[in-house]
This record gives sequence, C-alpha cells and structure tokens, in this order.
Amino acid sequence: MMPMNRIYSFERQPYLRELEVEVLRVQEDSGAWTAILDDTILYPEGGGQPSDRGRLNEVVVSHVQKTSDGLLHVLESPVEPGAVRLVVDWDRRYDHMQQHTAQHILTRTARDRQSWETRSFHIGAEVSDIELDCRPPRPAEIEALEDAVAKIIVEARPIRGFRVNQEQFAALDVRSRGLPAGHQGEIRLVEIEDFDLNTCGGTHLASTSEVEIVKIVGSEPLRGGCRVFWVAGKRVRRRLASHDRTMAELRKLLDIGDAEMVSGLGSRLEQLQEARRARRGLERRLAESIVRELSSAESAGLVDLHLEGLEAGLLRPVAEGLAKQGGRRAVLLTAEGEAGIQFALVTGDESGLDLKAAGAATAEILNGRGGGSGKVFQGKAESLARRSDAVNLIRELLS
Ligand SMILES: [Zn+2]
Repeated sequence: MMPMNRIYSFERQPYLRELEVEVLRVQEDSGAWTAILDDTILYPEGGGQPSDRGRLNEVVVSHVQKTSDGLLHVLESPVEPGAVRLVVDWDRRYDHMQQHTAQHILTRTARDRQSWETRSFHIGAEVSDIELDCRPPRPAEIEALEDAVAKIIVEARPIRGFRVNQEQFAALDVRSRGLPAGHQGEIRLVEIEDFDLNTCGGTHLASTSEVEIVKIVGSEPLRGGCRVFWVAGKRVRRRLASHDRTMAELRKLLDIGDAEMVSGLGSRLEQLQEARRARRGLERRLAESIVRELSSAESAGLVDLHLEGLEAGLLRPVAEGLAKQGGRRAVLLTAEGEAGIQFALVTGDESGLDLKAAGAATAEILNGRGGGSGKVFQGKAESLARRSDAVNLIRELLS
C-alpha cells in the first residue's frame, strides 16, 4: 500500500508534461481498466479541481482518482505492466492551473477587501464558481474586486508550493478552513509571494501573470451566502470570441448595430407580440366564418373539411363552434400543421350516429387515437392516406 501523503510529480513539477513511469498493477473490473503507477504527472480529482486526462503510451487515461491503494488511473483499454510514457493533456491541465490560481487570488482579495470568506470552489467546464459568505455582490463591488485581482496579476507575483510539518504549520499565518479531521503528517501549502499563504494540494501557475485576467460573469444567492461565477485566462478570450461571433450573427440577422441591439430587438419582439394578437383575432373570425358556412351546408349526412398549414390551428375552435349547432348531420374535420395531424368528428343531436364508435373507427383507419364524449370526438392521427375510407365509413354509419 502506498502512503497517502507521498509526493507525486504533478505536485513537485506542475509544468512537467511527460514522464517515464512504471505500471505496477493493472486491473479489470467489468470492462473498465485501471492502473496503479509508481509515479504520476496526472492530478487526481480533488479540492475543487477536476481530474487530469492523458495517455499511457497510446492508451487514453480518462480519469484519475484517489483511493486507499494510491492513485487509480482509469484507462480506456488495457496496458501491460512495465515502463511506459505518461503524457498529460496539457491544454486541459494548464486551463485548470489558470482557473485554480485565479481562485486563490479571488478568494484572498474578497477576504482582504470585503471580509468575504470563501466556503468552497469548483472549476466547471465553462465557468468556475466560488461560494462566498455574503449576499451577491453589487456591480460596483464586482468591478472593484476585478480591479484588485488584476493588480495582483500584473504584479507577476511568484507562486510556489511546499510542504511543512505540523509544528511549522502551527507557527505560520496560514489562510485555511482547517485541516481534515485526523490529518497526519506533512501539510501542503501554496504561497503567492507577499499576498497569500494557504493549504492546497492542487496544481498552480508559477506566476500570477500567467492567469492573464479574471472576469466575474454572474452571481446568485445560495444557502444564506452567494455563488460568484467567473472565468480566467484563455477562457476569457474564448468567451469574448464566442460573444463576438454571436453579436456578428445577430447584426447580420437583424440588421441592427451593437449599440441599438437591445432596444432594437425589444421593439421587434413587441411587433411580434402585436402580430400574434392580430393573428389570433383573425383566426377567431375565420373559425366563426367557417362554422357559419358549414351551418348553411348540408343539413343531413356527412360534411367533411380539411384544414392545412396556418389553418390547422382552427380545428378546435371550428369543432367547438359546430358542436353548438344541433341537427341531423355529422362533420369530419382533419388538419395538418405544426402540431402534426389532427382530426375531429362532430355530430348533431339527431344524426343518430354513435359518436364513440364512429370516432374510434376513424382513429383506427387514420392510425391514430383519440377520445370524446357528447358531440365531439378529437384525436391525433399518423396518416391521412386513408382519409376517404374514414369518410365512406362514417357515411355508411349515418345512413
Ligand atoms: Zn490551490
């Protein structure tokens, strides 16, 4: 069994991208392969930082996790025990180092300037977050926080990680939320020169300058405190580029300049609402007119009508309007539009038609299903290919 507090190469040399290692043990558990190595440059998931990924020769290492046996490297296929070349997915790792180091600076700055303590942090795939013991910060506070963080970045302060024993730890002024219960042995510290000293086992940059920039992108209340979302380093550039692409597409689509985008879009949405209201009014009138027209049609037998496209939404109001009329005839309505194919069978009081039986038979012919009682049977259909069969059947049932 490996000691839990041993030093792996990712801790000593966070910039090491490749390392010759020895595969000590390979295990298969229901199709999943794991390996234990004599050393590793892959950081295991922990302390808010996600696991690294990499390759053992050509085999993909998709995840690394801490276990009581050591660091388990989860593999996509098996490897042979012996010497292999371990390579870290450097883009992913460097991104994590930027986000993680940014978190140290943010946490310390929030504490020094506002006495806001960090309760937890988490590096996400797109944005990262810290949980603070305060209400969500106001815009001016966010800007002040970002300015203070930028100052530390520009000062290019050296960062180093090192270990101390319990005695040395007690004598230092370390920012810490307390060691885990029962912690024994050495303690890993991370120092940003003349700025911050805290306990951390993660991977960090060598200088604050490598963080490039930290941008807070949102906040929300959480458990009596708040969660602040942010991006750092290359993610800021990537995010800006993505927003610029979106703006360019919007400019092209809407023919509105950036400065007028929000007000311009607002008035277009108002126009759309107005058009929708007008359309609903027209549909109502059209439905009424169809009902009137049908009421003066055949007084007995079957009337059938198909509504298509924009008119498809009229099926329900037309069916409801017809249901109010009595009489000896029945009406079959079908419609095909955005909501798919629908049908309705409406019958007068004196038609003599068994609505439920005729409705169910129509549904079966149209490969659909539906239900109804009283005067209307409504349903959805798969196909109108046999519509004329349904018409013939209802005519027979009526005669
Ligand atoms: Zn850290």
